Amino acid sequence: MPQLTKVFGIDLGTTYSAVAYIDEFDRAVIVPNDINEPTTPSAVYFESPGHVVVGVEAKNMAEIEPENVVQFVKRFMGRKDEFLFEYNGKQYEPEEISAIILKGLVEKAQQNVNEQIQDVVITVPAYFDDAQRTATKNAGIMAGLNVLDIVNEPIAAALSYGIQAANREETILVYDLGGGTFDVSVIHVGPEGVKILVTGGNHELGGKDWDDRLISYLAAAFETENGVNPLTDPHAHQELRTKAEAVKKRLSQKMKDPFTFSFAGSHSRIEVAREKLEEITADLLDLTIQVTRETLKELEAKTGANRVDRILLVGGSSRMPIVKQRVDQEFGVAADIHDPDECVAKGAAIWAVKRKIDTLAEQVGYNAQTGEGDKAAFNKALQKEIETVRNREFYLALPGKSGINVSSHTYGILAYDRGVQIVAPLLAKNTEIPFVYESEHGMFGTAHENQSSIELVLMEADGDSLDPAHCKEIGRGTVNLPREVSKGSEVKIWFNYAADGTMTLRAREMSTQTECEVKIVRSGVMDMQAVEAAGAHLAVLNAR
Ligand code: AMP
Repeated sequence: MPQLTKVFGIDLGTTYSAVAYIDEFDRAVIVPNDINEPTTPSAVYFESPGHVVVGVEAKNMAEIEPENVVQFVKRFMGRKDEFLFEYNGKQYEPEEISAIILKGLVEKAQQNVNEQIQDVVITVPAYFDDAQRTATKNAGIMAGLNVLDIVNEPIAAALSYGIQAANREETILVYDLGGGTFDVSVIHVGPEGVKILVTGGNHELGGKDWDDRLISYLAAAFETENGVNPLTDPHAHQELRTKAEAVKKRLSQKMKDPFTFSFAGSHSRIEVAREKLEEITADLLDLTIQVTRETLKELEAKTGANRVDRILLVGGSSRMPIVKQRVDQEFGVAADIHDPDECVAKGAAIWAVKRKIDTLAEQVGYNAQTGEGDKAAFNKALQKEIETVRNREFYLALPGKSGINVSSHTYGILAYDRGVQIVAPLLAKNTEIPFVYESEHGMFGTAHENQSSIELVLMEADGDSLDPAHCKEIGRGTVNLPREVSKGSEVKIWFNYAADGTMTLRAREMSTQTECEVKIVRSGVMDMQAVEAAGAHLAVLNAR
């Protein structure tokens, strides 16, 4: 039997995750889990000290023992200060929970492949900053994996849908409606590599919101018939959640589905029509269209054009037929839809092979792009390491990854404009990072007469609003002046967003030449020592 390639792609999703590899026929395929399903819920249930459960059984405990179940941990990756979960006297960091998910995923997938799952590429959303990417990589290390690379989800999706060789230019919009998040990205493929042009989305919107609407609808219908509401009981609530999601999925195939439910001695059969589901969730779909339009506007502001060559539908929730209908109608392009909940993992597997081949080329000193170097040695290395990959030319021709990333937020400082407090932007969302800002002459000055200090406050805006009430303070410092200065005295501002995610804000009052610097190092990630210690702890936990 031919050997499988030894590299795997993992889509570590907010609600579901998946593992893929390239098979002996050069196809990207999903490795099913222990119950033969292609995707596994990213849910962890702490059943007892020393035993954790990952996947559907964990998800099924969410309403019954909410205090022992962790879901949606991806939202907290790189933000450990905002996450609190404790079990049996131990506090868990977000990357530890992700590591447990990865460990569980790998153990389940391992039952269906001959090769040991060790070398992997893990995907992250395009808007993840450096801290969030590092946290994801740490999770892989803790789970005992060798993380070859971290790749952006829309790029992985595009690889799976098919990116042409590097000599063809293409602008692709990726509409990704998953279980807990909605992401839109526009990527550009060209000779210089694949790069993210703009990203947008709503990280609190996903299939779960469709489920919640259906749950409320079904519970209300049950109560009207029987006078009792199943949502009052955690077990009935859990059962309703599981059944509602199943009804929703079946309605992607059928026009109507019978829903049967028993609770407190009463029984109901409620027929749900696809149209009904579409009606009670119409505003949710509208939101995705609105966010997509805004993202295209940002593309236009950035590149001068808002035309895209292709739209790819990604994420399990894109399977709802209304999604494609609406996207096609709104944007005048026939959107592609193909394995929406598997394509990210498959693309990661393609990228894993590409990385492996590139690494081998590097090791033997062969340049695949120019053909310079020892081609024979390269071929020999390929033969030995990845004999089953037949279509090497395909991987070699794939455009390399561009290091260019964009900021997912707008950053600015608190300032006064005609007496009104505002956030004065320094770095606009979707600007390429690393980034350096220097204020123009006359841009900032002291706000009051006889001012003796200047408060420097760095703000992060999530949406478009620059109203301080809608932004988050992420750093603060004070310039203590040696003497009082008059109103309007010039203050120069510098802001630097480095590739490693560190932000430095500096202000200098020009008449006194007094300065203050604020450095923001995202502290949301565990250090390597803690990662190793946590890895050892996880090794003794039994993740099934
Ligand atoms: P993902 O994170 O991309 O795997 O997406 C998971 C979400 O897709 C969950 O909310 C699922 O309920 C939803 N989903 C999966 N399959 C379908 C389907 N056939 N119809 C509607 N929603 C689906």
